[in-house]
Amino acid sequence: MNGLLKGALAAGGGAVGIEVLRRAMFSSARRRYEPWERSPYRDFPNKVLIVGGGFAGYKAAQTLCEFARNRDDVGVMLISRENYFTYWPMLASVIGGDVATQNVAQPLRRTLIRLGASFRRAPLDRVDLARRLVVAGGREFPYEHLVLSLGAEPAYFGIPGVEEHCISITGIGAGEAIVDRVIERYEEVTLAGGEIPDSKLTFMVIGGGATGVEVASELHSLVRDLLVPDYPNINPNRVKIILVDANKEILKELDPALRRVARKKLADLQIEVINNVKAKEVTADRVILGDGREIMVENVIWTAGARASVKLDEIDLPHDERKGLTVDHYMRVLGHDNVWGIGDCAATVNEDGDPVPPNAQAAVQEGEAVARNILAVIDGEEPRPFRYKSLGQLVELGSEFAVNEVMGVKFSGQIAALFWRLTYLYKLESPESRARIAVDWLLDIFYDPPVTQIRR
Ligand SMILES: Cc1cc2nc3c(=O)[nH]c(=O)nc-3n(C[C@H](O)[C@H](O)[C@H](O)COP(=O)(O)OP(=O)(O)OC[C@H]3O[C@@H](n4cnc5c(N)ncnc54)[C@H](O)[C@@H]3O)c2cc1C
Repeated sequence: MNGLLKGALAAGGGAVGIEVLRRAMFSSARRRYEPWERSPYRDFPNKVLIVGGGFAGYKAAQTLCEFARNRDDVGVMLISRENYFTYWPMLASVIGGDVATQNVAQPLRRTLIRLGASFRRAPLDRVDLARRLVVAGGREFPYEHLVLSLGAEPAYFGIPGVEEHCISITGIGAGEAIVDRVIERYEEVTLAGGEIPDSKLTFMVIGGGATGVEVASELHSLVRDLLVPDYPNINPNRVKIILVDANKEILKELDPALRRVARKKLADLQIEVINNVKAKEVTADRVILGDGREIMVENVIWTAGARASVKLDEIDLPHDERKGLTVDHYMRVLGHDNVWGIGDCAATVNEDGDPVPPNAQAAVQEGEAVARNILAVIDGEEPRPFRYKSLGQLVELGSEFAVNEVMGVKFSGQIAALFWRLTYLYKLESPESRARIAVDWLLDIFYDPPVTQIRR
C-alpha cells in the first residue's frame, strides 16, 4: 500500500483508536443506554408506517422522528424483512477482505428505538388499501400514511440459466457467497493436483456497471493477492477474470475520460472486458454470448440488471414492473393521497418530470423529502415537489484505485480511492461500524485479512 494512503489511514485509524481505547477503558459508559420509549404506535392519531428499512425507508423514519420529536400526534413505525439495513456500496469490499459482512449490516432496531420510532422485523404479506392497514408477519398494522420503500432486486430478463447458475446480488450474503465459490474451486484444484479444466478457474462477471466493475476488481484482489499465500500450488496466472457488458463501453453513466481510465486500470489488472454483447444463455460449465461465442466458465456472477421489488406485483397500486410505483413529483402513488413510494421501488420523477436514478444518494434524498411532505400534509400544508441533487459518482477498483466525479470534478487513482473510503465511511449510519471498519483498514496495513470459509 502506498505511503500516502497508509499515512491517511493511519491518521484516521489513530483517532478511532483513541476513541476505541477510551470506550474500552470505560466500558460501563459504553453499555449504559437511555431507552426512550414513546407511547405505543397505535395510540398516535397520525400513524406513519414505513415498509422497507433500506436507504430510503430508514432516512424517512429518521427524518420523521427528528421533526416530530416534540409532537404527540405523529407516531412512526418501520417494518422490514431484516433487523439491519444493507450498506450496499461496501458490499463488494467484502470480496477483497477489506470490510467484514457484519459491518455492512447497519443495525435498525436499536437505532430506530433510540430515535423514537417503533420497529418490527417482518416480511410484508399484503396491503389492505381500503382498510388502511398492512399485514406483515401475519399481524395487522394500521396507518394514516403508508410509505413503501421495498428496494430492488436482480432482473434476469428471462435469459435461460442465469437464475439457476449465476451468483447474483440478492442480499448481504452475496460478498461471502462469491468468496466461498472461489475457495471451493481452489480446494477442488488443490485436491485434484491441477488436473482440472480451465473453466473451474475462470470467473465471469456479467454487467459492466459500477457494481460489476467493483466486483471484478475485488475478485482480482482476492485471487491475485489475498489467496496467493494460502494456495502455493495454484498459479495465479491461470485464474482468469472476464467482465461482459452489453453496452459499447463499461460504466456508461460515467464521464468518458473516467471510463477510459477505468478501462485501462482493468487491463492492468488483467481483467478481460468484452463489450457490446449480451449473455444469451448460462449453463453449468459455459456462457453462450449473443454473437455465438461460447466461454467455458463455471463461476458466473450476475450484476446486469435490476427491477423494482417483485412484491409490488401483489399490491393493487399502479406500477411498472422494472421501474416501480408510479408516483407524482411529491412521491405520492398516483390516485392515493396517503400512499407514498420512495427509493428503488418507485419511479421517482423530478419537479420537471425527469426520472430520478435509482441509487443510494437519491434514495436518501427521497426519504428525507417524503418525511417533510407527510408532515406538511398532516399539518394541512402543501407538500413540496422533489428535486434530486446529484453530488457525483464514486467507483472503486480494488482498495487502492477509484474513479470519481464529484460536483463536476473528475479524479482517479489513490487519492480517489482514499476519497471513496472516507466518503462511504462518513456516510455509514452506525458509528460502531464506522469505527470497526476504520480499525480493520488500519490493521490491513500490517496483516493480510484472513480468508476463512465458514460453512452454514
Ligand atoms: C452491490 C450494490 C452496490 C451499490 N453501490 C452503490 C453505490 O456505490 N452508490 C450508490 O449511490 N448506490 C449504490 N447502489 C444502489 C443503492 O444501494 C440503492 O439504490 C439503494 O439501496 C436504494 O435504497 P432503497 O431504500 O430503495 O432499497 P434498499 O436499500 O435495498 O432497501 C430495501 C429494504 O426493503 C426491505 N424489504 C424488501 N422487501 C421486503 C418485504 N417483502 N418485506 C419487508 N421488507 C422488505 C429490505 O430488507 C431492505 O431493508 C448499490 C446497489 C448494490 C446492489
